[in-house]
Parts: sequence; C-alpha cells; structure tokens
Amino acid sequence: MNNEMQSEWRPTETGLKMRIINFAAVTIPFAGLVAAIILLWGVAFNWVYLALLGGMYVATAIGINVGYHRFFTHRSFKTPRFIEAILAVLGSMAVEGPVIQWAAMHRCHHQHSDEHQDPHSPHSHDAGLWNMVRGLWHAHMGWLFRPHPPGLARYVNDLRKDRLVCRMSKLFPLWVLVGLLIPAALGGLFTLSWMGVLLGFIWGGLVRIFLVHHVTWSINSVCHIWGTRPFDTHDESRNNAIFGVLALGEGWHNNHHAFPTSARHGLRWWQLDVTYMIIRGMAMVGLARDVRVPSADRIAAKRCA
Ligand SMILES: [Zn+2]
Ligand SMILES: [Zn+2]
Repeated sequence: MNNEMQSEWRPTETGLKMRIINFAAVTIPFAGLVAAIILLWGVAFNWVYLALLGGMYVATAIGINVGYHRFFTHRSFKTPRFIEAILAVLGSMAVEGPVIQWAAMHRCHHQHSDEHQDPHSPHSHDAGLWNMVRGLWHAHMGWLFRPHPPGLARYVNDLRKDRLVCRMSKLFPLWVLVGLLIPAALGGLFTLSWMGVLLGFIWGGLVRIFLVHHVTWSINSVCHIWGTRPFDTHDESRNNAIFGVLALGEGWHNNHHAFPTSARHGLRWWQLDVTYMIIRGMAMVGLARDVRVPSADRIAAKRCA
C-alpha cells in the first residue's frame, strides 16, 4: 500500500441512500424470521424451541461478547483459566471462526477503522449507488469471503503464545459440532421424539447461528453507519440503541472505539449493556477481576464539545 494512496483516501459520506439500503438489508431477514416463527407456531415451533433458540442465542452471544471480544481481543478484565476455556468454547459455537483469527481481525479493525486496511468498513468504496451496495455487503458479510489482510498474525502475538488459546482455536470444528448437538439432544429429550431432535437442531442450531451472525455483522455495518457519535474517534463508529439492546451492549460502538479496552460499552446509565452486567456479575462471585472502565474524567475529556 503506498503512502500517497493512504493520505489521499477519505471515508465516504454516510448518506441517506446508504442508510435506507442498510436498514432494509438488516431488518428484512429479522422480519422473515419473525414471520416464520408466527406461521410455524404449533406446527414446527413452540415454547421448547423458543427456549432452545433463546438459550443458545444468549450462551453463544456471551461467548462472543464477553469472551472473544471483551476478554480475548481487548483484555478488559482478568478471569480464571477454566472460565477462559468456557468462553472460548461458547464463542466458537457461534461459528464466527477460531478465537485467534477473530481477535486478529478485530484488532486490525480497531487499528485501521474505516481506513483502507480495515477488513470490514462499509465506507471503503468508490462513489455511486452500486459501489455503495457493494460496500454495505462487504461490511456485513462479504469480507468473510475475501483473503485475510496481510500480516494479520502480528496482531495476536500474545494469543499465539498462549497454549490454551491455541488448543481452543485448533478444536474449533469440534466446538461447532457440540453447539449443534446440544440443542438437538435437548430437543429430543424435551419432546421424546426424533422430530424434536431435528427441530432442536434447526432452531437451536442453524437458526440461532443465523441470528447471532446477523446481529454480530450488523455491528460492523449498522454501527459504522447509523447512530450518534458522542466521541470524536476519527472513524465512522456510532452508538446505535437498537443494537445496544439486541447485541447485549455491543451496539454502543462509538463508546467502544473511544475506549477499546473498557469492559463497559454502555457508558451512560441508560445505555443498557447486558454484557457488562454479566462481567460485573462474574466479578461479584470472584470469576472476574481487574475489570477495566475509564474514569469519569477521561470520559469527559474525550467527549465531543
Ligand atoms: Zn467498529
Ligand atoms: Zn472491539
């Protein structure tokens, strides 16, 4: 990458068209899922499958948010080794790649946020409607099919030296399988039927993976397009209340880019941050310590005038 290109490049504007297309792309799959649930209620969906879908969603979202993101990537608290292992397993079950690879990509995102080298910026495209749609697709999930940015390994030198993390990363396919078998087994157990096994697999496994993927990827796309920017972070990160709730606190993304190592993303009392509440709960029972949160002075100093 030559320096001249880097200095000339600027993020594209987050215009109204981009917001409308992103809004449609993110809400239509959710609407489709809700419609499927309503239409299939009593036929191929009921309270058992709702519990499996919800339970597996929360468990694997905790794996991604508390584990992959706030612990392994940003080291925002300390925890015993067995909890590290559990968090790595739960995060792997979300099927977003092995923990080392996820952390490397995400550290690269913070280092180069909304610049050329950002692996999933919605803004790194040329002018024009078609290029904008391509940019949104790229930020949401297209980036997963692109080659990794060069030199990715240097972002995770610490994790590559950690035997537990390496082992957990190598066993990633096993954890994915376990994440599919658990809801299938529970579905069979609750209904005492093979149909229960199949529907448990579909709702607690496949549909849950779709939902966690879509919500996680929306942080990369929506939260760099829609929302407020209380902190001047030199990128396009935004606080988005809808994903603050849906993604259990991860939607307060401008706060996060301003204070990446903070275990708390919802910095205001009204910014619901379930992930931080879980970390606080872990600290209360001795399963987390040295929980990092910026001081009120640091927050005030960084806030936009
Ligand atoms: Zn971001
Ligand atoms: Zn982050």
